[in-house]
Amino acid sequence: MKRRNVDLVCDIAELISQSEPGRDRKELLQSVVVSVGQHMHADVCSIYIYDEEDEELTLRATQGLSAEAIGRVKLKLGEGITGQAVRELRAISTGRASQSSAYKHFPGINEEQYNAFLAVPILRGLRRIGALVVQAREENYFSSNDTKALRAIAAQLATTIENAQLLSEARETFTAPKEITSPTKKAIRQSILRGRSASSGTAKGQALTLGAGQHERCPLPDPAAKPHTIEDFKEALEQTTQQINQLQRQTGEELADVAILIFSAHLLILEDEQFTGRISGLIQTGTPALQAISTVVNEYVEIFSNSKMPLIREKVLDVKDLGNRLTRNLLNEKSVSSDYRGQIIIAHELLPSDILKLSAENVEGFIVSSGVTSHNAIICRSLGIPMVALGRELVDGIVEGEEMLMDAEQGLVYLQPSEAVYAKYVDHDEAWQAAHNAAHVKEKSRTKCGERIYIHANINLLSDLKPARKFKAEGVGLYRSEFPFIVRNDFPSEEEQYVIYQKLVDQMEGKSVTFRTLDIGGDKMLSYYSNVHEANPFLGMRAIRFSLQNKDIFCQQLRAFLRAGAAGNTRIMFPLIASVDDFIEARTIAHECMNELEAAGQPFSRNTQLGVMMELPSAVEVAVELAQEADFLSIGSNDLIQYMLAVDRTNEQVSNLYRAHHPAVLRSINRIVAAARIHEKDISICGDLSADPRMLPFLMGIGLRKFSIDSINTPTVQRLVQAYSLEEAEEIAESMLKLGRISEVEAFLDAHNLRAEQAI
Ligand code: PEP
Ligand code: MG
Repeated sequence: MKRRNVDLVCDIAELISQSEPGRDRKELLQSVVVSVGQHMHADVCSIYIYDEEDEELTLRATQGLSAEAIGRVKLKLGEGITGQAVRELRAISTGRASQSSAYKHFPGINEEQYNAFLAVPILRGLRRIGALVVQAREENYFSSNDTKALRAIAAQLATTIENAQLLSEARETFTAPKEITSPTKKAIRQSILRGRSASSGTAKGQALTLGAGQHERCPLPDPAAKPHTIEDFKEALEQTTQQINQLQRQTGEELADVAILIFSAHLLILEDEQFTGRISGLIQTGTPALQAISTVVNEYVEIFSNSKMPLIREKVLDVKDLGNRLTRNLLNEKSVSSDYRGQIIIAHELLPSDILKLSAENVEGFIVSSGVTSHNAIICRSLGIPMVALGRELVDGIVEGEEMLMDAEQGLVYLQPSEAVYAKYVDHDEAWQAAHNAAHVKEKSRTKCGERIYIHANINLLSDLKPARKFKAEGVGLYRSEFPFIVRNDFPSEEEQYVIYQKLVDQMEGKSVTFRTLDIGGDKMLSYYSNVHEANPFLGMRAIRFSLQNKDIFCQQLRAFLRAGAAGNTRIMFPLIASVDDFIEARTIAHECMNELEAAGQPFSRNTQLGVMMELPSAVEVAVELAQEADFLSIGSNDLIQYMLAVDRTNEQVSNLYRAHHPAVLRSINRIVAAARIHEKDISICGDLSADPRMLPFLMGIGLRKFSIDSINTPTVQRLVQAYSLEEAEEIAESMLKLGRISEVEAFLDAHNLRAEQAI
């Protein structure tokens, strides 16, 4: 029997996306089993849901088995073919189930007549959610294509089922909300706050604090105004749903790689009967509508922010956002579609997904207490949103709603700025635009003496490709592949990754692209993979360590890279390599992936170069051996400085100790370049240091010719490259390498007019 599995997968996707507001999840599961059963012409289709605590699967929906079995048939993890598939996190297909040693017979559910049995686990990341099972009378009925289709359906179902579970678990832990008190803030004593630039640009707006606190936007009802009716609330709800859908579509167009389902939690909460139903209930029993919204939103904020589960805590911002939207729609405020326009977010803690959402909602800027090389800063630079890092106390001193002006170029924040300061800001903005104008950037960069220097781009999001091309990047020196992983609800599949990587290669039109394998951990946690709590995540399961431990995920990414590089000029590098052994293990796996692709007849390039990111002091010690083994080395200065100096790159409190010009850092970088030279291997630098004007002459002087930078900095870097001859740069480097104290290096930089004020 011919089955149209692609249609099936599409139908299920549609079924899930159209799952109506407030619709019972049981009904959705039942529709899925009916649809899958019919499409596959299977005699039985069932869904089991897994309970982590009891380690037990329960039948929750079925087409073909007795309806009475729903809720009654239970399987322990590993029990029966289904339990085994879920325990081993893999699909199991058998042509004659009753002959399988794992088969378990349940009397009374009419199962014995079915021979073919295919069970696919429903997983989110490595978390077990349940199983999707099909059965047929005919022996050997299911093909490998059916397994693939069922896997795709299981992946779609996972998020829906898990989100629904999380919401109901969160509600169960609900306790009555505490009295709402507005947080007291210190009075401002300063009108200028001095911090550091984490992402350039300027912005003005009102301060809006983002934290675990309560939703504070409940305007007092005007006693003279006509009270809002339940119909008014329903209208506001409808408008809010439309706005979120529109926002998701718009973000999807602009940020194709990371936008997937970014607003799905918003929609899920809006669809949740206990959220909107409770607000309606309060309104109907006489509570003013604005107050009803505020009360319920605050209940949810309280539940979510106190949850132990990171996935739930992540939703605090979403529910507050919904509260604001409902309130504004009820009040018919015009600016609902651009909620955060005119607002500067003040936060101690931010998630990359928060930044993406707030950016989609036109936020003006961020003031944070984390460090300037944190990955949040990196993502802000990609999105072109200014960010200033201030000390914790200064952040706490900002008063909610006060006017401010950010000069993120200088790391300054003006509180309640005067007209004169505004005027200066306009001038400054023009100067900034002029300094970052792509019009004068040349195709090729050369030193004063004519030596070629190659400027490549760092790409974090696909949206960075536009500036990369505008600023004439000669290639991509670092693609930080983790952002699509961080923002999604689950590990992207090999195919999803391939589509993203392919776009990157296509748009660079044959220029070299260096993919960096997944670098999660540290300050880039996956909310769906938090089964280990680490006291020191930067020293824990990060980057290549994660990949080597999770070989399936690693191989999927490697295969996607290799396939995307079939026609292109691509390289792959591994982050946080601590030893030659690490590199060899990663390389062996990459070669296995090549063999697999070859066996499957999939196009890829066997010549893809494999390189090491030099980010750890241990790697510096064995740099010569690494250079011998690897095809190329790339210096990740952000981490190299962090680990060399034991200074957390995300901690603003110790940012004064994070010094690129520390003699130990200078000498380490020099050793890495020398090691590459011994084995005549390609060497480049891709951390923030590569665009630091104070350090460029030094870097050129020790022999670096390839710099991978945020494209916006190209005009400055190119100008500086042109300003020095190699001889001058070499002299500078030689002198700097002789200095043993930080203070001596500082004095040298000052004397040579290589000052911090030039910093980008
Ligand atoms: C680095 O560490 O310098 C680097 C380029 O990698 P990331 O900033 O992504 O850790
Ligand atoms: Mg790094």
